[in-house]
Amino acid sequence: MSKPHVAVLPSPGLGHVTPLLELAKRLVTQFDLHVTVLVVTSTIPSPALSQLLHSPALPADLDVVELPPVDAAALVTDEMQLLTQLAVMVEHSLNASLKSVLLEIGTPKALIIDIFCTQAFDICKPLSIPVYSFFTASVALMTFSLYLPTMDREIDGEFVDLPEPVAVPGCTPIRTADLLDQVKDRTNDEYRWYLHHVGRLPEAAGIFLNSWEGIEPVSIKSLTEHPFYRGIPIPEIFPVGPLIKQVECTAETDAELINWLDEQPSKSVLFVALGSGGTFTSAQLTELAWGLELSEQRFVLVARFPWDRSASAAYFNAGSGGGEEDGPARYLPEGFVERTKGRGVVVASWAPQIAVLGHVATGGFLSHCGWNSTLESVSSGVPMIAWPLYAEQRMNATILEEEVGVAVKMAAAAGDGAAAVVGREEIERVVRLVMEGEKGKEMREKARLLKESAAKAVSGGGGSSESMAKVAEGWKK
Ligand code: UDP
Repeated sequence: MSKPHVAVLPSPGLGHVTPLLELAKRLVTQFDLHVTVLVVTSTIPSPALSQLLHSPALPADLDVVELPPVDAAALVTDEMQLLTQLAVMVEHSLNASLKSVLLEIGTPKALIIDIFCTQAFDICKPLSIPVYSFFTASVALMTFSLYLPTMDREIDGEFVDLPEPVAVPGCTPIRTADLLDQVKDRTNDEYRWYLHHVGRLPEAAGIFLNSWEGIEPVSIKSLTEHPFYRGIPIPEIFPVGPLIKQVECTAETDAELINWLDEQPSKSVLFVALGSGGTFTSAQLTELAWGLELSEQRFVLVARFPWDRSASAAYFNAGSGGGEEDGPARYLPEGFVERTKGRGVVVASWAPQIAVLGHVATGGFLSHCGWNSTLESVSSGVPMIAWPLYAEQRMNATILEEEVGVAVKMAAAAGDGAAAVVGREEIERVVRLVMEGEKGKEMREKARLLKESAAKAVSGGGGSSESMAKVAEGWKK
């Protein structure tokens, strides 16, 4: 008898594809399902994404089917911000081909989408395919997002101008400065797209969360118990996190880096990386390099080409390099690479993050606080220096510092726009605090406990594993 078949549909971008692919792998290997991952492809190549989707390590019974590519250049303009570009590409792709692809692969029992693929509700209804949502960010952002349509109806003016933090029902209030970028200007298309997609969350047959009670107890409890969410009402929720990708080192440079880490003392290295698309300005990168040098700590620095000198959007073509070809020494302070040789390693563009975070030599992570990076760090028991850049990262940084206690935030940059920088002395101070201070020890202990709690959640009998089993067994009936 053939195995029950479900399909998974992430929107473009590594931060979305990674956790949905991980879910797909577990449905195949732990629950004996057949899973097809449907990929929205564009004409913009992403080597990191391609490596992930075509990895020889993917299990049999996990198929990857690419939807016919959309011509990104014809659909999106430079004036459109990132979410608008993404939403336009996804809408076009799904309307053009999702129905026929679902029929071709044999009408799966269920489709799991991420937040920006909600057209799938309309496309799947006539096919009688139940659609589940997978929320790739924190539960704190999920509760805020479920409250957003109410805020939109009841509040005039901009949310960032509210005199008080936003009182999300049952949750810790969110400071207006921490609100996600997409809701900071209600006249912008970014806002309209975000509101549109999150407004459809209640239509899902169920909602998967890439989180667990160990890291977000209050938000998860609120979702299930608070009258506001029950009154919407929202469908059943399934906390299945942390779902993070597995170690994969394939490039030659990865082996060199791991060999170097093997020679460093335990917990002595600070890993510095800003997700799939994060970049600094030239001025900020210079200060960061000086801060690292002055701190006298060991480090691995992923140094991308500065955004004020680059033309490409790193988010969609992660891992491809965008000006790093001649080596980072060209855009780092003169002599930095030589002066820090032996104590630090500079990587252009991309590092094997999971392997670095999981290495015993790694003792801290300077991160932009994307949700995947956050989950990867705490799952490895590594404390963080939070340097949020965009999207909902400021919210994540605040939660990690104030509620979870595993991060310390970098001071805000002084100055305006591209000229705003965090100075080298502040960077040196925070790096020392986390790598050699008492504060660092405290955070490392909290991170160690979270690592244990994360491992327990996803292992047999753990909460996340049971949640996944509940849905998967339902599909098998
Ligand atoms: N990543 C990586 N190497 C790098 C930078 C990032 O492997 O040098 C991976 C990281 O492990 C994570 C993802 O890229 O899985 C970034 O996702 P996240 O949600 O943290 O941030 P986003 O890219 O969505 O801003």
